[in-house]
Amino acid sequence: MNKESKLYIAGHRGMVGSALYRQLLAKGYRNLLVRSRQELDLTDQRAVHEFLREEKPDYVFMAAARVGGIYANNTFRADFIYENLIIEANIIHGAWKAGVNRLLFLGSSCIYPRDCPQPIKEEYLLTGPLEQTNEPYAISKIAGIKLCESYNRQYGSSYVSVMPTNLYGQNDTYDPLDSHVVPALIQKTHEARLRGDKTLVVWGTGKPRREFLYVDDLARACILLMEKMVPDGVFNVGAGSDVTIQELAETIMEVVGFQGTVSFDVSKPDGTPRKLLDVSKMKELGWEATIGLPEGIEMAYQDFLAKACN
Ligand code: GDP
Repeated sequence: MNKESKLYIAGHRGMVGSALYRQLLAKGYRNLLVRSRQELDLTDQRAVHEFLREEKPDYVFMAAARVGGIYANNTFRADFIYENLIIEANIIHGAWKAGVNRLLFLGSSCIYPRDCPQPIKEEYLLTGPLEQTNEPYAISKIAGIKLCESYNRQYGSSYVSVMPTNLYGQNDTYDPLDSHVVPALIQKTHEARLRGDKTLVVWGTGKPRREFLYVDDLARACILLMEKMVPDGVFNVGAGSDVTIQELAETIMEVVGFQGTVSFDVSKPDGTPRKLLDVSKMKELGWEATIGLPEGIEMAYQDFLAKACN
């Protein structure tokens, strides 16, 4: 990949895609190809194939997906599996037909079996049953990995898959019901502070453990994988350590300046008990996370405030 290469970022308005866009621009990549949802509907096979055939990008970053937190995954099960399957199939097949040799597919740590040993190695994929709350989404992401692997095996392409842990950061989606736990709790804690509430309600028991990665750290890992042309395969990208949801809530309360206490709504699901990724493959390539949790939450909160005030 050189500074003149034509790089297509699918999903450049999302949290991951926009982080890739910012970082690639900052590194001097000049030829970035992007399309908004209005300009290109990624669920439309004909439109996607035509676009890729005409534009012929050299590299494709696949950051477009239907995503959401535990409630959204569990509720909009059909939308999550359908939209992700069709977007992946359209882009990966279209890219191959357009002669794209290098593509990066973004998956998720929820692809691994619910009860697999921790930290989770890439080789644990498909060794056991999945967590139920996000099984349709996970199946669609496993299909994406297998699409990449199959095109590589049959056609000799070099499509690589990245499995990020729970992400948060600039341009996240803030919604009390549908978003992931970090943006949901940032918003809820902020609003609780403004109202002068005494307690913050956190879903589940607070005991599940999660690993959180600031999205800029992920973007750096993706660009490194594309620049280094490492052999294809699956690469876990995580922070290397995890916290309980209760500890996360306490960190967010501290950053937001909320003085109350936490209460747990156990009518809401916990989801998987733990999903800490083994990141040794990425470490061997010279990558590791640099943004710690309190620092990252502070940056995300500032981004939330900037958007909330607009
Ligand atoms: P998951 O990692 O796929 O389970 O997705 P989430 O980021 O949505 O949730 C992570 C954990 O945080 C789960 O155990 C949730 O029950 C818990 N959690 C606590 N409060 C909230 C909340 O307000 N929103 C969300 N999405 N999760 C919450």
